[in-house]
Amino acid sequence: MAAEVKAAVFERAQEPLAIRTYPTPDAEPDGAVVDLVSSGICGTDVHIWEGAIPFVGPLILGHEFLGRVRALGPCVREPVAKDCMGQPVKVGDLVAVNVIEPCGACRLCQTGGAASCLNLMDSMTYTRSPDEPPHLFGGYAEMTVCPTRYLHRIPDGLPPDIAATFLCAGPTVVRGIVYAGGIGPDDHVVVQGSGPVGLFAALYASKSGAASVTLIGSSSRPLRLELASLLGAGQVLDIRTTSPEERARVIKDGTGGIGADIVIEGSGSPDAVPEGLNLLRPRGRYVLAGQYSDRGAVPLPVHQITFSALQLLGSAQFTAEDRETYLRFMLGVPEAWDAIRRAITHRVTVEQSDQGLRAVRLGEAIKALLVP
Ligand SMILES: [Zn+2]
Ligand SMILES: [Zn+2]
Repeated sequence: MAAEVKAAVFERAQEPLAIRTYPTPDAEPDGAVVDLVSSGICGTDVHIWEGAIPFVGPLILGHEFLGRVRALGPCVREPVAKDCMGQPVKVGDLVAVNVIEPCGACRLCQTGGAASCLNLMDSMTYTRSPDEPPHLFGGYAEMTVCPTRYLHRIPDGLPPDIAATFLCAGPTVVRGIVYAGGIGPDDHVVVQGSGPVGLFAALYASKSGAASVTLIGSSSRPLRLELASLLGAGQVLDIRTTSPEERARVIKDGTGGIGADIVIEGSGSPDAVPEGLNLLRPRGRYVLAGQYSDRGAVPLPVHQITFSALQLLGSAQFTAEDRETYLRFMLGVPEAWDAIRRAITHRVTVEQSDQGLRAVRLGEAIKALLVP
């Protein structure tokens, strides 16, 4: 048994993470200790690291991670411990570890809006200071402690890397598509962005039977566009070689002259929003699932929104059911697993967390995983 557990601790924005060690924790009465398998380095982590999302350190970053249950507390061993879906979990199981849980009691939770639970921030575990025992609350650490209801059992047969690749982006897209009423066989879908949100959206839309999937991205990172095609985008439009007007014409030409049924914004760039709106047909649905940090405002074509009766659907966070939908979906697309694995471009250890964050910030990484 490791006597000490390494963690990368965010202390202050724009400073290197501090590598600290903590004693191997015991499970709390209603909780679990989980050995790290992999922790995704998310764009959100970069925004926190840069100070664009004002989190106060010290804290252990990492909100999309997988591990194996190492120990369970005395209150959950008998008759059986349950995860966030009510599924049994036991020592040795592969699990995702959540850092937030909807309260189940507020007005939003009671009316189908649990992803935006009013008490979500109060449920957040990983913003707790690692100065207080049991210290290990976030994913950038070799071990984590959490209540068992924050665990999500990974379905048998799903390889850890496949579960990990879009562990945050995937359920985020699933939730946005739920808000949009789903994707049907007549739907022409446009995806903006070729990061994890965009790539998963292309995969999910194509496997959902969309009439067409077009992804708009940049050839500055050629692998992203190659993977977009492999994952299901029938058409890829490069923002470096096409103008917004040309892209709008291509979309119109491919949709009988009316425009896309659904546009999914996954680029995180505010500038993408006016273009995305312009690609929609009347009554088209615009899913804004990628603007996770405040990168400023853009003028909106409000006349067009009214006149074309466009539907703007913001989407943030997701529910346990959305994550389950994601995991089951990934299990069901083994033909895409080779391409999905290629999206994992970087693996770093806890000590190398800064390198991983930098690779994500610079866009060098599609998915960077922190591994033990
Ligand atoms: Zn994330
Ligand atoms: Zn709630």
